[in-house]
Amino acid sequence: MPSFVRVLVDRSEGQELDYMVPESFRRDITVGSRVIIPMRGRRAIGTVLELLDHSQVSGIKSIESVVEPEASVSPALMRLGSWMAEYYCAPLASVMRSILPPTIRGEKIAGKKIRMAGLANKPSAEEINHFLKKAPKQGALLRALAVSCDRIPVPDLLSSSGASEASLRLLIKSGWVDLEEKRVGSSGGSSVAVLPGRIPELNPDQHRVVDELVDAVAGAGEKKGMIPFLLHGVTGSGKTEVYLRLLAKVLESGKSAIVLVPEISLTPQTVERFRSRFDHAGGGGVGVAVLHSHLTEAERREEWLRLQRGEARIAIGARSAVFAPLANLGLIIVDEEHENTYKQEETPRYHARDVAVMRARLEGCPVLLGSATPSIESYRNAASGKYRLLELPRRADGQVMPLIRVVDLRLQGKRAKSDGGLSAPLQMEITRRLELDQQTILFLNRRGFATSMLCELCGHVCKCPNCSLAMTFHRAAERLACHLCGHSTVPPSRCPECGDAGIRHSGIGTQRVEESIRKSFPKARIARMDADTMTRRGSYEEVLGKFRARQIDILVGTQMIAKGLDFPNVTLVGIINADIGLHSPDFRAGERTFQLLTQVAGRAGRGETEGEVIVQTFSPGSPSLQHARHHDFAGFYEQEIAFREAFRHPPFSRMLLVRIRSVSAEKASRTATSASAWLTKNAPASVEVSDASPAPLEKSHGQYRYHVILKAPSGAALGRLGRDLVSLFTIPREVVMTLDVDPYSMM
Ligand code: ADP
Ligand code: ZN
Repeated sequence: MPSFVRVLVDRSEGQELDYMVPESFRRDITVGSRVIIPMRGRRAIGTVLELLDHSQVSGIKSIESVVEPEASVSPALMRLGSWMAEYYCAPLASVMRSILPPTIRGEKIAGKKIRMAGLANKPSAEEINHFLKKAPKQGALLRALAVSCDRIPVPDLLSSSGASEASLRLLIKSGWVDLEEKRVGSSGGSSVAVLPGRIPELNPDQHRVVDELVDAVAGAGEKKGMIPFLLHGVTGSGKTEVYLRLLAKVLESGKSAIVLVPEISLTPQTVERFRSRFDHAGGGGVGVAVLHSHLTEAERREEWLRLQRGEARIAIGARSAVFAPLANLGLIIVDEEHENTYKQEETPRYHARDVAVMRARLEGCPVLLGSATPSIESYRNAASGKYRLLELPRRADGQVMPLIRVVDLRLQGKRAKSDGGLSAPLQMEITRRLELDQQTILFLNRRGFATSMLCELCGHVCKCPNCSLAMTFHRAAERLACHLCGHSTVPPSRCPECGDAGIRHSGIGTQRVEESIRKSFPKARIARMDADTMTRRGSYEEVLGKFRARQIDILVGTQMIAKGLDFPNVTLVGIINADIGLHSPDFRAGERTFQLLTQVAGRAGRGETEGEVIVQTFSPGSPSLQHARHHDFAGFYEQEIAFREAFRHPPFSRMLLVRIRSVSAEKASRTATSASAWLTKNAPASVEVSDASPAPLEKSHGQYRYHVILKAPSGAALGRLGRDLVSLFTIPREVVMTLDVDPYSMM
């Protein structure tokens, strides 16, 4: 039993201090324990990093108490934390902040109460239908409550039915619903009200995949090195159904599981499927905890504690759910493993998929990475035998993949431009869908009305004064706005450069597409979904609900509508401009374009009727587009991997991006140059150090930005050099340096 411990103090910049452990606590303390300690005359909380037999510190203080055991960090998570700190060159304190939610970090554990909603008065089916027609939100709430036999926590109820607190209050006022406060944790998990879906028979492909994984799940916890699985299944091939079957097996065997999804607010359908399956079909009273960003801190804490106590054994969430405090893990699933949102763009800059693979290794459980468009990194790991490849090459319901037609915008001339980007073939197909009462999705990865204001005489483009980025014209507000820092101004009537009056909007955004289809199709019911229209909480679910109920004919949107949506009546998807992103200064540009086109196209034809996709482009010959068009992942991979190898880009090298920024252009440039020189001097021969160069996005939020890029055949040497840079290289005042291991955003 330890006499001393080394503690990482929460609210410090990573201070590690030694403390004595009084006799009475020795039994309770292990690595990962949370302890209350005296520090500079105050009390602080920290995590035990190490148990020590002796300590050199003179006048050492004693720890005051141990926070309840349920707040402690498991040994596997502690080891994961140290690995992350080392691999990502990040302070351990910042990693611990990611692992422990703030409310667990900051407070003592105390029973929190949560509001539970239930039916005060049971409505008949007719009454529910009546509500659904007259007040759909209230109807949805009533239906949810009627389907569930139990009371439902208010946050769950609202998120699953897409209704607001206001609709709930109305139902309480009219006597249908009442609330009750309950200490969460006192009984089983939250039940969620969704209609239990039909459970399909697995097809032979799915069977094969499930069988192979079931064996791995059964072997979990035996601490053997377990090989990660990569599931490559085309859009609609039934990957989610595979996940559901596996989770059922995990629960049956008494184990727990983590499901990572790219962005919880953008994948409501997927999340609902998980919840509904396990709340109605014999989850054995085991709850599903959904960790999403709309939770209040108190709610997040409750979910965290339910997982910690084993009351919920499935954790679903974005990135940070990889740290879910589950014991006895049987499986980790990473859905859409290629998604960039798994990369955290602040310290610690970890990639949740890679952390998931490492956690699975430490826990001795299998990890399943799934995607219709696997990342080049993962697919290469499968090709080289590091991962095991599983495939679902066909759509589950026997549907054929949608037909993809390419429209060359160069041949469409000015007309397409003046029509808000709709070519004649696309217009024609939309008309046909309206006649057939089928639905259309139009995708454009750019919000606003026009992309920029451009002077036709001198070529001047209105840029944000804080960022080196063109400002976007927003018609509703009649303003130019910067999508990076939010700066906005009144658009000029004359060119600020040459004074000519010929300055006009160029390029199109979602707002302009919406306006133009409203003109072309005055009778159609149209909705737009982008960061400008989806500002209210719940508005996303509301629009999707209407779209599902076929109250919307045409849905226009940004990448918000690209992911995971499954609407059987959508038979046409139009991609307004496939070229956006294709020419960005990033070695992953081609990969991203291929993924996006494939995913968007995958929204079409998920029902009985065959789907069609129309892709508009100025570069119809681009390989990403051609491969996406033929649903040819293998062909795309072959070509992309050759390109990566030729230029020694990842996965043929590891990369570390050193970012340097300052309000002073001169300081930024000088520091970057000397950092590059320092690195060159200290780097081992295997590491390639670039010169300092201005970032592609030279200025952002008023700061000048520079990059130094390091490349090496393996991560180890790179990490060591990075850690040395952080501790030995002196950074002048007013300059900030950040390290990004395996960078995704090269801007
Ligand atoms: P993915 O996750 O690969 O996009 P899903 O699991 O969402 O695919 O499946 C696509 C559609 O096919 C869903 O509507 C799902 O209910 C259905 N489906 C899945 N598996 C089967 C099956 N074995 N038989 C019939 N339909 C299935
Ligand atoms: Zn800006």
